[in-house]
Amino acid sequence: MLVKLNIFQTLLYMAKISIIGSGFSGLAAACFAAKEGHQVTLLEKNETIGGRARTFKSDGFTFDMGPSWYWMPDVFENFFAQFGKSAADYYQLKQLDPGFQIIFGKNDTIEIPASMEELEAVFEGIEAGSAAKLRQFLKEAEYKYNVGMKDMVYKPAFSWLEYANLDVVKGMLKSNIFSSVSSYVRSYFKDERLVALMEFPVLFLGAMANKIPALYTMMNYSALVQGTFYPVGGMCRIAEGMKELAVSLGVEFRTGVDVTKIEVTDGLVSGLKTSTGDIALDGLIAAADYNHVEQKLLDEKYRNYSSDYWEDKTFAPSCLIYYVGVSKKIKKLLHHNLFFDADFEKHANDIYSTPQWPDRPLFYVCCPSKTDDTIAPEGMENLFILVPVATGLKDDEATRESYFDGIIKRMENYCGEEFAAEVIYKRTYCIKNFVEDYNAFKGNAYGLANTLMQTAVLKPSLRNKQLKNMFYAGQLTVPGPGVPPALISGQVASEQLNKYLQKL
Ligand SMILES: Cc1cc2nc3c(=O)[nH]c(=O)nc-3n(C[C@H](O)[C@H](O)[C@H](O)COP(=O)(O)OP(=O)(O)OC[C@H]3O[C@@H](n4cnc5c(N)ncnc54)[C@H](O)[C@@H]3O)c2cc1C
Repeated sequence: MLVKLNIFQTLLYMAKISIIGSGFSGLAAACFAAKEGHQVTLLEKNETIGGRARTFKSDGFTFDMGPSWYWMPDVFENFFAQFGKSAADYYQLKQLDPGFQIIFGKNDTIEIPASMEELEAVFEGIEAGSAAKLRQFLKEAEYKYNVGMKDMVYKPAFSWLEYANLDVVKGMLKSNIFSSVSSYVRSYFKDERLVALMEFPVLFLGAMANKIPALYTMMNYSALVQGTFYPVGGMCRIAEGMKELAVSLGVEFRTGVDVTKIEVTDGLVSGLKTSTGDIALDGLIAAADYNHVEQKLLDEKYRNYSSDYWEDKTFAPSCLIYYVGVSKKIKKLLHHNLFFDADFEKHANDIYSTPQWPDRPLFYVCCPSKTDDTIAPEGMENLFILVPVATGLKDDEATRESYFDGIIKRMENYCGEEFAAEVIYKRTYCIKNFVEDYNAFKGNAYGLANTLMQTAVLKPSLRNKQLKNMFYAGQLTVPGPGVPPALISGQVASEQLNKYLQKL
């Protein structure tokens, strides 16, 4: 039931809004809905908030379970600024220098310094003339970033007409939307290591660089110019900060509550069935996995898409993760380490073309205890090791285990020291866990890939096309995968729901 109040000659509708899911998209949606004066309840099936960015503690270690790269700091600042706050009110950010390293072989690494002058020297040392090319590349990347942020990502993407403004069209064309990241990068750099470095940031978007529009080299601007940051205490500090803000705005959090059905009355969402009882509502933002919400919670006639639609989509990879505690310091690791010491094409083929468990995969190691002494006991290292794998593979403990020794050997070989015997904590996480913990379709980790055919209006819609008071948020709708896009989708979904409520 909608409550109509007359305050200072303004009609304010205080609607009851439910948000399903406490990932970044749900948290952002809750904050914006509460700011409009609505009565907001956030429902989360897990006992802790943060969605894929939850943490767990064991044996003196605190592990971030999902995201570890803090890029696009302006998106977080922009979010908090809309509530008169700044990220610094909730967590302390440290810029990493070097930002990250890519390991091609035992004595073959590229470290990415925070300073542009030093980065240019790194490039020039690898390929003569590449410093000037880097400058030009990053100038264009900055342009794309600005066009993307100003004119594209904050749109609901209901229609191409939203982009039908001459400046936006010019910006999109100038941003090389129709060529791939791969061909664009290769038009600048020849050395395969520089190519790998410049293609790496778009791996976050869930597909190979030859399938991602060159518009997304905007990510290089964030990685190489804005820099790589870390919130002290871990990535969980962002979600905790957003929760603190949401609570201050009046949002009610209910964890351990599994939504089992979305009820519809007279063509509108009217309530939810949950594991702890029924909830009546005036508006809904479903910020859990889109496929799960449609296929499991909504009656078929109200779904935007069929199950065949989802089968045809290109999903970003899932991943095999090891959370590892080591009882000694490991000298040569940095905070972010990408082990590109294997055949990239072959691994990519095992993810995208012929989905299967890879033979000798590339992997990523985050060692946040290099920056933060609160997340591991003194003198020890906290490791997060991630191997990208295809979604939907058969996942069992034996398969997970089969990679561990080989990965540790490759790390020991690079680091020039042994530490296998010093592993005092280990937990694995993979496809099955993504399904069980987050209702993730086929155990996807990062949502849908940002291919050209899955960009903007071509992504699963942010609104339910029949139920006018229901919107979707999260990494499976616009603008796409990653923490900053998830956060943006929550804002846009909330704005759209509010527009609908204001019309009543
Ligand atoms: C291992 C990993 C590493 C990553 N690394 C990075 C990184 O370094 N940088 C980056 O920017 N991004 C990274 N990402 C991507 C980023 O974490 C996600 O895109 C983002 O967190 C998704 O947020 P979300 O709100 O869309 O979804 P989620 O975080 O999945 O939140 C959805 C929530 O809905 C809940 N839910 C589901 N079904 C129900 C139900 N029926 N009832 C109630 N609640 C329900 C789930 O439990 C979950 O908490 C990573 C992701 C993973 C998995």
